Parts: sequence; C-alpha cells; structure tokens
Amino acid sequence: MIDHRRLGRELDLFASDPLSGAGLPLWLPAGAAARHAVEEYLRELERRAGYQHVHTPPLGRRELFALSGHLGYFAGDMFPPMRLGADDEFVLRPALCPHHALVYRARGRSYRELPLRVAELGGMYRAERSGVLGGLSRVRAISLNDAHNFCTLEQAGAEVAEILGLIRAAHAALGVRVAGFRLSLRGPGEKYVGDEEQWRRAEELLRAALAGIDHTEAPGEAAFYGPKIDIQVRDAAGRESTLSTIQLDFDKPERFDLSYVDAGGARRRPVMVHRSLVGSMERLFAYLIEEHAGAFPAWYAPVQVVVLPLDDRQADPAAGFARDCVRAGLRAEVDGAGSLGARIREAARRRIPYVAVVGPREAAEGRVSLRQRDGRLLDPLPVPAALDLVTAAARPPLE
Ligand SMILES: [Zn+2]
Repeated sequence: MIDHRRLGRELDLFASDPLSGAGLPLWLPAGAAARHAVEEYLRELERRAGYQHVHTPPLGRRELFALSGHLGYFAGDMFPPMRLGADDEFVLRPALCPHHALVYRARGRSYRELPLRVAELGGMYRAERSGVLGGLSRVRAISLNDAHNFCTLEQAGAEVAEILGLIRAAHAALGVRVAGFRLSLRGPGEKYVGDEEQWRRAEELLRAALAGIDHTEAPGEAAFYGPKIDIQVRDAAGRESTLSTIQLDFDKPERFDLSYVDAGGARRRPVMVHRSLVGSMERLFAYLIEEHAGAFPAWYAPVQVVVLPLDDRQADPAAGFARDCVRAGLRAEVDGAGSLGARIREAARRRIPYVAVVGPREAAEGRVSLRQRDGRLLDPLPVPAALDLVTAAARPPLE
C-alpha cells in the first residue's frame, strides 16, 4: 500500500530526526520546492479573491489566549506556557485567530471595509502525544493556510458561499478528491462557549450554504466557539480526515470587543468566519503524496524538467536549455552521468514530469526531444517551442 512516509523518504521530500523531536519533520529541498509552489499558488488565489496577507508571531502572551478562550477550552492540546518572568508568560499559539482579531482591531473599522479578509500561512502548535504522530499527517508544528473573514451578519452567507468556491478551485488545481462534506455541530457537554441563539444562527447559516450539497452531520465535531463545514478526504489506508474547513464564530468578536462603524455612524459587532482552503501544509502533503503516488501535477513537482545530454559533447547545449528553463521560472536540472537508459529510469523514479534529451542531432539543430512522465515521446522541438510547451504545462492553474 502507498504510504506517504515511505514515498517521502524515497523521493527525498521530508525527513525526521529523533534529535528534532517526534512530530517535527524537516522539509528537504524537494519537499520544500513543492510546498513553496503550492503556497505561492494559494497566496495568489487568495489575493485575487480580495484577501490581505499578514504576518503574526507563532507565540504570544498568556493573556491573549486567556482572552480568546483557548486556555479555558483548549489547554489540553497546547504546550505548557513558558515563563520568562513573574508576570511574563508566553504560549505557543494553538491557532491564528487571536492574532488576527488583534490585526482587525489595530485601528478603527468602517462598514465600507467589510468583508475584511485577513490571511496568513502561519505557524501554530499542538501538544500531540508522541504515540499518535506519524510522518506529515499528525505533527506538533503546523503551518496552516488560514484566514479570518470579518463581515456583517448579512454578508456571512455570501462569504461562506464564496469560500466554498475557492475551496473547489484549490482542490481542482491540486488534484484533491473530496470524500465528503460534513456539518460539524455541538455535542453534549460543557466544552462550548457562546449562547444558544448564537449557535442556532450559525448553524442555520452553514446549513443554508450546504443546501444542495450532499453532506453528513457530525454532533460533537464543532469548534468550541462555533459550528463548521468540514471537507473530508481519505488517505490510502481509507482513514478520513478534515482538509478544508469553514467556521462561523460570534464569540471571538465579543471577547475581543471587535466593532465597525455602520452607515448610520453606529458601532456594530462583525461576524468572524474562520476558513482554511486546504488545511495545513503538513496534512495536505501527507494526502497529496499518497493521492498522486508522488507524481504531483507538473506545476508543483519538485523538479519539472531534467535535461539529459546524450554524452559530454552535448553538455553545453544541455546546460543552456536547463538555464533557459530556470530563467523561465521552471525548476530544472541537468543529469549528465551514466547511461541514457539509467538516467531516464532515474527521472521516472523521481516522477519528473519532463525529460529533455539532447543528442548530436538535436544539438546541431538547436532542438530538444521531450519525453513526458507517462512515457510519451514528442518529436524534437526547437528550443523556444519546447520551453513554451513545458512552461505552459507547469503553470499553476489560476483561471
Ligand atoms: Zn481561526
């Protein structure tokens, strides 16, 4: 069976080291290149949809997380506070929302600014027990594709619908197969904040957004501050997990006393929509590695083109083509050592989308012969045409 941990090792995507600690994997250059491409795509997708990106620190004062409710409701999943002085305790954040609430209230807000969409691919931490950790699917340091959309109650329905559209676009681009939609609701018990009316309203809104979409309901799976839409995927072993999520929150705007000035000059409370298009980079890649068996779509393949000179006499034109590829924004390398057959097999093992062979005839005519990952061989193309072809295939699919 396909296992992202084994493939991650074989393809040099990530590694773990006992000295780094369980659940704290290291992204190697190949894995980091793929992740970087995905991060850039997501940032661009969000930018086009009106998101504003911020940077906030991965830790903060204890008081921030007392105010947000995390210390009261979520402490079991957090690392213990770090003490610097008598009144100076810091917490590794378990979520980005508290910082984004501070971004919102960094200055006064007008209704004209809403919906205000604050996005960040940021770090957060979970004190997972070492027994449940494995590869990238369950980690202690999490890089979340996150955003918080502050809007009026009237805007919330349209905002959720628009987020669902963005999630669909990201899934199509990455090659994600959805296993199901889930409406995660409150369960019995005391682990939830907010009043009855807030929960009822939030549920109603999410239910309306899911009208016409096949979904299940999961009592007990809500966040402590509100219900959510979870979009599930299945790993190679058949285990289901949440990749994308949309949550409605009436509680944090109260706790952080967030407000905007409406058209009549009155101070009003915004609604906070928490959303992640594809979840954390770690869990996303655990899924993508298995889903594609390591053969990522060309736009986020770690190396997109490998150039193979037939022998040393084509070293210069091969290096020249690789340089052209790199300048065109592609990730390209030259592999000049060993028999051609062995090098083609090695490129296939590494799931490289394009192999460009430069033999004596190609070198003399200023051409390269492209071979695709599925084994298809194209007629030798002039260098500029080959470059265009690979560049077009390796472009992230933004409409
Ligand atoms: Zn949040």
